[in-house]
Amino acid sequence: MSASGTTGVEPVMAAPWAPTDPSSALKITNVRTICTAPDGVRLVVVKVETNEPGLYGLGCATFTQRPMTVVSAIEEYLKPFLVGRDPNDIEDIWQASHLSSYWRSGPVLNNALSGVDMALWDIKGKRAGVPVYQLFGGRTRKAADVYVHANGRDVHDLEDRVREVTEAGFRHVRVQMEVPGMATYGAYGSQIAPPPGQPVQSGRLAIEQKAWEPRPYCRQTPAMFEHLRSTLGEEVELLHDVHERVPPMMAIQLAKDLEPYKLFFLEDLFSPEDVDYLRILRAQSSIPVAIGELFVNQHEYVPLVRDRLLDFMRVHVSDIGGLTPARKLATLCEFFGVRTAWHGPNDTSPVGHAAQLQLDLSVSNFGIQEVMHIPDRTREVFPGTPEVRDGAMWSNEAPGLGIDIDEELAAKYPFPEHPFNGAWPEIRRTDGTVIRP
Ligand code: MG
Repeated sequence: MSASGTTGVEPVMAAPWAPTDPSSALKITNVRTICTAPDGVRLVVVKVETNEPGLYGLGCATFTQRPMTVVSAIEEYLKPFLVGRDPNDIEDIWQASHLSSYWRSGPVLNNALSGVDMALWDIKGKRAGVPVYQLFGGRTRKAADVYVHANGRDVHDLEDRVREVTEAGFRHVRVQMEVPGMATYGAYGSQIAPPPGQPVQSGRLAIEQKAWEPRPYCRQTPAMFEHLRSTLGEEVELLHDVHERVPPMMAIQLAKDLEPYKLFFLEDLFSPEDVDYLRILRAQSSIPVAIGELFVNQHEYVPLVRDRLLDFMRVHVSDIGGLTPARKLATLCEFFGVRTAWHGPNDTSPVGHAAQLQLDLSVSNFGIQEVMHIPDRTREVFPGTPEVRDGAMWSNEAPGLGIDIDEELAAKYPFPEHPFNGAWPEIRRTDGTVIRP
């Protein structure tokens, strides 16, 4: 008699359900990376191809400081894992890919995953014949308000830069100013357009190799806001990025000093390693807190949302793994009164911008979208790059993410030579100590 009962028939375990039905008509046939730097910023884009003629998707996998590690993660590991699967199964592919390395998360693997994930949403939108935001529940606004950067050498120069962008129709402006003699984050000119004949530079490439001390910056910044509010008035929304360089208690004092100037938000007052100081800050200050561009793991951001320690979630969508996790994060944030402000510098590729725009348009708790000037040469490589006008980013209403890549043109702009192969420059105090950037 068998151990299973009296019938003599052994129970047969059903094979585990697997979503890749052998009879499925649609399959992933190739996963490719495209590297291009039309305006000097190293961009990595993923193209997921299918067996349906002409049907493919694009995704952003740009980790500009370590781009070739992402290329390797995609070409050598994700591609063999994904070819033959049904691209309809976005959630299943995300979960299976995420776990396929056993050790998971981090900017390399998350960016690789993002490239594939965004491309799958692009494919799904194209098949449905609608922009991806329609698959997310449809629009909740006509366009996504953006903020741009204004950077000055001194208060007068900065005031001029702010006037320049507000006259161009922008209502939200991030203001940064040089600290004389120091390697100040973000002080590198205007970003409506580069000076004639000069390439657009990522701010991090333009930081001069000087020392940095937090005290002069903390003295200067309230005075900077005092000047801007007294000359520009209260209408313009002003934002500022501390960029995690200031010791925590000095940063809390800075936040309190800035309260009278009614900032739209104050960003990255603390490094990811110091986010527990947000609890102390919240007990002392009502300044609106934006944080998160460096987060790469849900354990970094879920507790902050749950405990209502921030007002704007700044994660870089490709650095947390693409649209699939970002949608879930946006929903989590909605329940806790936190608004979205996805990181959007020029090392977010135009594909990344087109992807996060789908969230900006559809989530009810949208806050603001960061954008920098996207030069014409980059727009030529990426036809369909979202338009920025009237202080907002607009959908072109094309199916999917609404963006394409001209691969022939992209190939004309290989990654440029770069000191330290693209590493973030060291920031040091006057005694030589390396500090968080
Ligand atoms: Mg920032």
